[in-house]
Amino acid sequence: MNPLIQKQNFLSSPLRMVIGGQHKDASDGARLSVVDPSTGAEFTTLPAGGAEDADAAVKAARNCFESPAWQKMKPVTRQRLINKLADLIEEHAEELADLESIDGGKPRGIARASDVASVIDVFRYFAGWATKLTGETLDVSVPRMPDGEFFAYTSKQPVGVVVGITPWNFPISMAAWKIAPALAAGCTIVLKPAEDTSVTALRLAELALEAGFPEGAVNVVTGRGSEVGAALVAHPDVDKVSFTGSVATGQAIGRAAMDTMKRVTLELGGKSPVIVMPDADLDWAVTGAAMAIFFNQGQTCTAGSRLYVHKSIEAEFMARLTEQAKALKIGAAYEDGVFFGPMISESHAQKVSKYIEVGDAEGVTFTLRGQRLDREGFFVSPTIMSGTHQDMQVVQEEIFGPVLAASTFETEEEAIKLANGTQFGLAGSIWTKDIRAGHQMSAKIQAGIVWINCHNLFDPNLPFGGVGLSGVGRDLGKSAVEANLEQKSVLLRLE
Ligand code: NAD
Repeated sequence: MNPLIQKQNFLSSPLRMVIGGQHKDASDGARLSVVDPSTGAEFTTLPAGGAEDADAAVKAARNCFESPAWQKMKPVTRQRLINKLADLIEEHAEELADLESIDGGKPRGIARASDVASVIDVFRYFAGWATKLTGETLDVSVPRMPDGEFFAYTSKQPVGVVVGITPWNFPISMAAWKIAPALAAGCTIVLKPAEDTSVTALRLAELALEAGFPEGAVNVVTGRGSEVGAALVAHPDVDKVSFTGSVATGQAIGRAAMDTMKRVTLELGGKSPVIVMPDADLDWAVTGAAMAIFFNQGQTCTAGSRLYVHKSIEAEFMARLTEQAKALKIGAAYEDGVFFGPMISESHAQKVSKYIEVGDAEGVTFTLRGQRLDREGFFVSPTIMSGTHQDMQVVQEEIFGPVLAASTFETEEEAIKLANGTQFGLAGSIWTKDIRAGHQMSAKIQAGIVWINCHNLFDPNLPFGGVGLSGVGRDLGKSAVEANLEQKSVLLRLE
């Protein structure tokens, strides 16, 4: 039994969606089971929303968006409300960390120090943008009007009703990445969290109401992606969809969104390379490579799941990396000092285990072979495969678990070619003391973000997103606010 569950008031009554400021069950009363990954036991259930619930949430968001109160709300008021929400998240940080840890199997300490802490920063960062939106004035030479005098400018307007759809790996963070920039831009939002991890999003919606956001500004619907999610994407009164999740779902959403020409941001999967140059600081690089793949049990879109080590340092590097991986403290998310928790679900643990077998069949060398742990919950221990080749499935496909595929290179050009050798392009890291090499190589790596001597570090001001199959558009930073705004050109004839 997970001891954190008993402490949580929020879990003591049935969870309900938040639509137009009201707590709602699914219109047909259907519910989904929610399981604690640390124990494998059901700890609550969720409304399994459908098309009717999606419609109600979109109507609530639209009514709020069009209400005089929202339309006339001053930017500084929106800024204050978003900041107030950040304050409330901070006040409830321990509770939110408990909920996130129970729901997603995240080690409790990490959920508090990383996930919840960063969410507070994200809301504060985007609060600031609410008062800093600008258009431009433009010099124009209007054709066919040589003598005319004109004044031209652009203004930025909120796109309207935004739908955010998020995955299970960083539930509260992904909810914040969608909600905060939408509100800063003056949009209203319907969030559809992943069915495995909807709990903290529901709590966030309550806190948004407590902060003073009007009913309908922040709505959260729960249920299956193929039902309530698909209904939101198809809904004609939604202006934008901001999706984070797998490539296949992203492609389906992108196609469906085009039927009604919705704006779309797609943050999808990755297979990110970690390149270790011969001059790298080995202490940093070994720990960096271990954290790059094993943080969040490898269930990170930017996980450094492909390792390319310079041949001259391979033996020492792989030995030290393996020692670090073996030393990681594995345990239930609620146990003290745990770094490495369970996989999100039984089916995901099976998928990851299957990829270990695929690597075996493809002929990799196991520096460390992970396995299902003989305990309750969905635990798969770390795997390091060396001697991998570019054409292997374990190198090309996103496993989304603690499985590292390693190989070597001899020249900078070769390292770049290997790094760019998948269809993904989300992230990558280069470990070197040579500033020239770091800069020149980063320019050539096909990815939305390249880290030099670090990996998996995010900042609210740093745009985040992918190229290639990793997606379209950017979350975070000014780009995320812009993605929730429409640009309007105004041309005024003066004479
Ligand atoms: P998923 O695509 O299965 O689900 C993501 C969300 O989409 C869920 O809320 C799901 O219910 C919903 N969904 C599913 N089918 C839908 C449909 N037809 N219409 C509308 N919504 C639908 O992904 P997942 O398994 O939850 O998450 C793992 C994936 O997310 C990995 O590929 C990972 O790399 C990616 N990810 C990317 C980023 C990023 O920022 N690039 C961040 C985190 C995770």
